[in-house]
Amino acid sequence: MTPVTAAARVEIDRELRPLIREIPNFPKPGINFKDFTPLLANAVAFRKATEAMAAPFAGDAISHVVGIESRGFILGAPIAQQLGAGFIPVRKPGKLPHTVERVDYQLEYGADALELHRDTLQWGHRVLVVDDVLATGGTLKATCALIALTGAELIGCSVLMALTELPGLTAMRHWRVNTLLRY
Ligand code: AMP
Repeated sequence: MTPVTAAARVEIDRELRPLIREIPNFPKPGINFKDFTPLLANAVAFRKATEAMAAPFAGDAISHVVGIESRGFILGAPIAQQLGAGFIPVRKPGKLPHTVERVDYQLEYGADALELHRDTLQWGHRVLVVDDVLATGGTLKATCALIALTGAELIGCSVLMALTELPGLTAMRHWRVNTLLRY
């Protein structure tokens, strides 16, 4: 896997940004939804995006990629394959069939929770977390907390898009977070 140079990052941004569709007020008023399905439908762009998300972690001996439901699954699975790692889903409550670890977290309005199969990660595992969008950071922080419960080591997070007007990047500043597109 070739490392991503600064010039390559500019090129990736130029190619991928036009394939992110913005849907105002979806799924509710005030949210400017970043729809990456046009990117997924483009074979070349999909591969470039996941390769560029994986490349910064190629030398980190990642043993497992954790993908966050549900768009983190789509990006996380090919990234896991590229890194020679296993894939582990983090899901909304009640979706995983076996014994789980659970973390509850606050949303802007209300609360939510995420779950992870308890027997998947353990001490000695080296984990990369993948999602599509970093907004307030609540989802990513809750996922990091879940991983901490298992004793596995969180190496970093790879996110396709970060919304810089929201506090997610600041909230995650103590972690190694790689983002491809910033808005
Ligand atoms: P947050 O916990 O606020 O950082 O939100 C991140 C999660 O919500 C991710 O799993 C995203 O899929 C989703 N998300 C938040 N904001 C957006 C947005 N503007 N467009 C698409 N997905 C979003």
